[in-house]
Parts: sequence; structure tokens; C-alpha cells
Amino acid sequence: MKIIRFRTSKREEIIDITGNIDNLIKDNKWLSGIILVYSPHTTAGITVNENADPSVKEDLSNFLKKLVPQNHCFSHAEANSDSHIKGTLCGFSQSFIIEDSKLQLGTWQGIYFLEFDGPRSREIWVKFTPG
Ligand code: ZN
Repeated sequence: MKIIRFRTSKREEIIDITGNIDNLIKDNKWLSGIILVYSPHTTAGITVNENADPSVKEDLSNFLKKLVPQNHCFSHAEANSDSHIKGTLCGFSQSFIIEDSKLQLGTWQGIYFLEFDGPRSREIWVKFTPG
């Protein structure tokens, strides 16, 4: 398993990690197979979406904030229940195809790490399975 380590800078942030995953594929000379990109955190997620127009990220972030408001009357005492719920809604992992040493994404797609309770030190775990 490979680990990408980084620090987020805001409470909520959508970070394009496509380049990090591309670099892992090149550095490890992975030719063909499947990779699992996994977030081992309860208040962050991994997703795929458009990486051409930055307003898509902004809309996603703003809509999630409206859907799960931070100041709702939750039971969890850490005051980050909204972060846990957003993590579950978006999911903690995604799988991708590698073919001819290239990450197979649609033309407009990028891979995103979703921070919902930063700033924090975070990790992304990546496992490659050849095939
Ligand atoms: Zn919590």
C-alpha cells in the first residue's frame, strides 16, 4: 500500500488529487490493473467530478453546506457531525482503471479529496492490484 500525506488548510476544502495519483502510477511503474484510492478518515471523502470549470467544486461545496448545516442540533459532542455526515454521503473511496500506465478518467473528470473538518493532517491510502 502507498500513502499520500498532506495537510489541508481550511475547514471545508475540495482538493484535486489527480496529479498525485498520476505520479504514484508513474513512480511505481504500474502498467495495468485497478487502484483503490481510500480515505482513512471519518470526516473526509473521495469523489470524482469535473475538473474543467472550478464553479462545479464551488457548487458542490455550497450545496453540501446547505444540505447538512454545521449548526443543526446534532447529538455528537465534537461539533463536527455535519463533517461525519458529509463524509458518509460522498463516500470514503473510489476505484480506478489503469491501462497502458495511464489513469483512465473521462475527459472532464478529476479525482478529489473532500475535507470536511480541517485544517488537519490527512492521508490517502492507495492499493494497486495488477490485472
Ligand atoms: Zn466527530
